[in-house]
Amino acid sequence: AMRPSDGPGGDGRRRVVLFPLPYQGHINPMLRLAAALHARGLAITVVHTETRAPDRQKLPGDFDLVTIRDGVAPELAESDDVAPFVLALNRSCAAPFRDYLAGARDVACVVADVDWFAPLGVARELGVKALPLMTSSAAKFRVYMAFPLLEEKGYLPIRESNLDTKVKELPPLLVRDMHHEKDEARYRAYAHLLSNMVSGVRQSSGLILNTLDAIEENGIANIYKDISIPVFAIGPLHILSPSVDSSLLLQDRSCLQWLDAQPPGSVIYVSLGSLMSIDAHELTEIAWGLVASRRPFLWVIRPGLVRGREVSELSIELQEEIRDRGRMVSWAPQQEVLKHPAVGAFLTHCGWNSTLESILEGVPMICRPLGGDQLCNARYVCEVWKVGFRMVEAENQLTRGDVQVAIEKMMGQKEGDEIRERMRDLRDAAAKCTSKGGPTDVSLQRLVGFIVSPYT
Ligand code: UDP
Repeated sequence: AMRPSDGPGGDGRRRVVLFPLPYQGHINPMLRLAAALHARGLAITVVHTETRAPDRQKLPGDFDLVTIRDGVAPELAESDDVAPFVLALNRSCAAPFRDYLAGARDVACVVADVDWFAPLGVARELGVKALPLMTSSAAKFRVYMAFPLLEEKGYLPIRESNLDTKVKELPPLLVRDMHHEKDEARYRAYAHLLSNMVSGVRQSSGLILNTLDAIEENGIANIYKDISIPVFAIGPLHILSPSVDSSLLLQDRSCLQWLDAQPPGSVIYVSLGSLMSIDAHELTEIAWGLVASRRPFLWVIRPGLVRGREVSELSIELQEEIRDRGRMVSWAPQQEVLKHPAVGAFLTHCGWNSTLESILEGVPMICRPLGGDQLCNARYVCEVWKVGFRMVEAENQLTRGDVQVAIEKMMGQKEGDEIRERMRDLRDAAAKCTSKGGPTDVSLQRLVGFIVSPYT
């Protein structure tokens, strides 16, 4: 069958250009969105940086891929200090993206992360609809929008003395849930990025949110109120097209067979995402805590997780203990792991994708947020949805005792059963929201209509 933009003189403007920020947590939702739009008859171009390029082999053959030379130093890309990297990318990618877009045919719109303010600006200048995608929560986007107000009211920059102050404009967040940046120059870079992001979104044609009414109805409604462009809450994007494999690292699928051999609801799945790192001390404490829990666990230790050390340096004694109960992999097929009936809890850093994936599979969370949006996400998990709890406050060192106590609490009856019951209810509400004719589905249909409508 001919796609609308096939052939010379096709009926035009039905190609969507999607440009993910080069992080695993951004590439995953963007490529799922690409596949969902493709399934609804739109032609797809994925523009990507040289840094962390997605694997062409794994993407549908009729996606066009366009590489942008970003010229950003690899050290900057690997650092978990995000703002300088994202600002550098915006500076270096705007001109090549303009060259590409000016020559592209039939483009109905450009979808890019809210962080990609320069390419979104290029689209607007060239008269192409710009649709920013917020890959994290509505709550976090509200923090971005409120940033100048939070500074004006003295919440920010964060001080030791106000960590426990409630941000009354954004309940239930506390000051300690905001992004921490002790260094003045880095704080300024972050503030600069946010102000570009928010003003870029406000000038765009519409805003896409990777969230859903079932969990963030108020947050979404407040964004509608605060912004004068159409808002499309179409999350969670990971369920739109699970068949797309956008993993940058090779997923070790052998752990699924290992899970098959474990009793239902018994396994603790442990992963701290693709970006954040911990020190060797925390690694050892998590290891001893897991071993002491005497429960089976599946632990993702990706390259670079531990600052300055390799896992093989865990003591022989500890490695033997781990072999008896647990399984370590360098990267897991996380969605399938969370879906597996053997998994009973997720010890997570609360990245937004992980949080959504856990909720949709009904897996309760033991939270260890390490920075960025994870602090805000964990607050919602623990205090709004009450489907998990933290082991310690983010600033505190984690001990093996904290890990062991948390696992006992989660896997045990009293509190554990209450949490599991709430998680089941939340999962059911999310399933209803995302079913055919539910709010997510309706928003997605609205979005497709909006993409193919004429640009005004
Ligand atoms: N992920 C994965 N295998 C792993 C760990 C994580 O495929 O072993 C995926 C996970 O399913 C999620 C993404 O990587 O989609 C991580 O995104 P998230 O927003 O949770 O955290 P970030 O990596 O951005 O901190």
